Amino acid sequence: AMTRPDILMPSPMRDIVTAGLEAAFTVHKTYDAAEPEAAIDAVADRIRGIAVVGRRIDKAMVDRFPNLEIVANFGVGYDNVDAAYCGSKGIVVTNTPDVLTEEVADTAIGLMLMTVRELSAAERWLRAGKWENEGPYPLTRATLRGRTLGILGLGRIGKAIAHRAEAFGMPVHYHGRHRQADVAYTYHDSLVSLAEAVDTLMLVAPGGADTHHMVGERVLKALGPDGILINVGRGTVVSETALVAALRKGTILAAGLDVFENEPHVPQALVDCPNVVLLPHVGSASVHTRNAMGQLVVDNLTAWFRTGKAVTPVPETPQRT
Ligand code: NDP
Repeated sequence: AMTRPDILMPSPMRDIVTAGLEAAFTVHKTYDAAEPEAAIDAVADRIRGIAVVGRRIDKAMVDRFPNLEIVANFGVGYDNVDAAYCGSKGIVVTNTPDVLTEEVADTAIGLMLMTVRELSAAERWLRAGKWENEGPYPLTRATLRGRTLGILGLGRIGKAIAHRAEAFGMPVHYHGRHRQADVAYTYHDSLVSLAEAVDTLMLVAPGGADTHHMVGERVLKALGPDGILINVGRGTVVSETALVAALRKGTILAAGLDVFENEPHVPQALVDCPNVVLLPHVGSASVHTRNAMGQLVVDNLTAWFRTGKAVTPVPETPQRT
C-alpha cells in the first residue's frame, strides 16, 4: 500500500480539495490550530507537499520544510510562490491553468462592457429611483463601436479574450516579450507602442517583479483621453497612484479593475473616482470553475506522489523525467 505522504494546508481550501487530499494523504490543516505558525513548525520535518491558496511561499517559508517536494498552488497566477527558488532546490511548483481560461475571459469581456457602457452606474441609477424621478440615465460618452483592443499578455486567457473581441468586431493588437508566429493580431514590441495604437487596453499578464508597475504615467498618457484600461491580470502591474491621477485629470477616460495592488484593500481615492468599475477579484469565481481548479490541485499532488510527474508544473520548475 502507498504510504500517506504528509501535506500542509496552511489556509482553508474548498471541500473538493480537502476531501480529495484526505483520501490519499495525511493533511495538516494548520489554520485550525490556536497558534497556526507553531502548528506548522511542529510538522515541518514531515511535510512533503503544500496545497496553497493566496499565502506567500517565499524563501523563508520553503526553508522551513527540509523534505518538501511539491507546492501545489490554487490559481494560474503563482506570483505568491518563489518558483525560481523552488526550482533551484528541485521542488516542483504547480498551478491551475486552462480550467479557468474561458471563465476569466468572460469576466474580462463583462468588465469591459460594464466600463465602456457604464452599466453598473446605470444600474445604481435605477436602484436609486432616479429613472422614475429624474429620467433616463445619461448617454454614455464611450461606445465599443470603432474601438481597438490592445492586450498585454496574449497567453491562454489573453487569446480567449481576443477571440471574443473578434466577435465584437474589434481589431486586436498585443504586447508580450515575444512576437507569436501563429497569431494574426498586430504585435508591438513595447507596451507604450501598444497603448499608442489602441484606445482599449486589456491587462492579462502575470504579477511579479518583471511586470511591476508596467502601467504608469507614460503608458496612460499614450492610451489617451478616450482610453479605457481594463485589468484582470494582477494589481501590481498598474501603479494605482498614477491611475487615480490619470482618471482625475482626464488623461484616460475610464478604468475597469478586477485586481488591485494590495488586495483586499482598494484605495478610497479609486473608490471615489466616478469613472471606474471595481470588482472584488472575481475573474474565475464561479462554483464550477473553482471546483475545477480545486480538482487540479488534488490531481497534481496525487499524480506527483503516485508517478513522480505532476500534471501542470510551472516552467520555472521542470520536473525530473
Ligand atoms: P499565460 O502564461 O498563458 O499568459 C501570460 C502572458 O503574459 C503570456 O502571453 C506572456 O507572453 C505575457 N507575459 C509574461 N510576462 C510578461 C512580461 N514581463 N511582459 C510582458 N508580457 C508578459 O497565463 P494565463 O493567460 O493563463 O494567465 C495570465 C494571468 O492572468 C495570470 O498570471 C494571473 O495573474 C491572471 N489571472 C487573473 C484572474 C482573475 O481572477 N482576475 C484569474 C486567472 C488568472 P510572453 O511570454 O511573450 O511575454
